[in-house]
Amino acid sequence: MTATAGSGWLDDLRRELAGEVVDAGSPAYDEARRVWNGMIDRRPLAIVRALSTADIGPVLHFAREHGLPLAVRGGGHNVAGNGTVDDGIVLDIAALKEVKVDPNGTTVTAQPGVILGDLDRATEPAGLIVPAGVVSGTGLFGLTLGGGFGWLTRAYGLTIDSMLAAEVMTASGDHVRTSGTEDADLFWGLRGGGGATSAWSRRSPMRRSAWGRRCSRAT
Ligand SMILES: Cc1cc2nc3c(=O)[nH]c(=O)nc-3n(C[C@H](O)[C@H](O)[C@H](O)COP(=O)(O)OP(=O)(O)OC[C@H]3O[C@@H](n4cnc5c(N)ncnc54)[C@H](O)[C@@H]3O)c2cc1C
Repeated sequence: MTATAGSGWLDDLRRELAGEVVDAGSPAYDEARRVWNGMIDRRPLAIVRALSTADIGPVLHFAREHGLPLAVRGGGHNVAGNGTVDDGIVLDIAALKEVKVDPNGTTVTAQPGVILGDLDRATEPAGLIVPAGVVSGTGLFGLTLGGGFGWLTRAYGLTIDSMLAAEVMTASGDHVRTSGTEDADLFWGLRGGGGATSAWSRRSPMRRSAWGRRCSRAT
């Protein structure tokens, strides 16, 4: 199919989603396509603002069916603009921001739109910290896919050193859990794959990840 903005071809996708589909005809388009690096000026066919993790699968399916490039945008801080794409679909997961600190206080589970400030706000009351970056607006997952370094790296290691597991939606729509013992090759690829292997990140949006003990106590 030829994808033409304004032809109603996005309506099937709209019907499947709780979230909003913003295309070039929408007044929100310019704001929705913006990323942190103002020099990046890409024009996606549509930006899908996911409202729940259930929105992720249909977007991957739609992009695959129509042969469209897909970019996943978390915090939007990637300087090279890997969180957006010309003439394709941007899956904007910024609204998926739940953070859970487990009752024993040693692990944290985060949804894919979490930025560093969200994480710190959730862990600080429990006296916990995940070693990550230095700017609160950076996306946790984009940072983690690149390794993740910051003020606490010398004391506690990179962010990837603390990642215990991740739930991944693959390009084919499979939902898999990966860790050091489950689908370990995928886990290895996530830990530091970053922009250099953007195929990983674009094809495999992480839905949740858990971080644990080694990143835990702030003293
Ligand atoms: C002001 C600023 C300060 C920074 N400080 C630090 C720092 O202190 N330490 C550090 O290590 N890095 C730092 N960085 C670099 C930053 O970690 C990377 O640019 C990172 O890619 C940003 O992630 P993001 O989610 O904000 O960006 P995005 O542009 O949204 O995403 C970056 C990449 O990750 C992918 N991605 C994001 N979320 C997901 C997801 N849930 N599932 C699948 N793929 C996903 C995107 O598709 C894209 O390829 C900084 C960058 C900026 C601009």
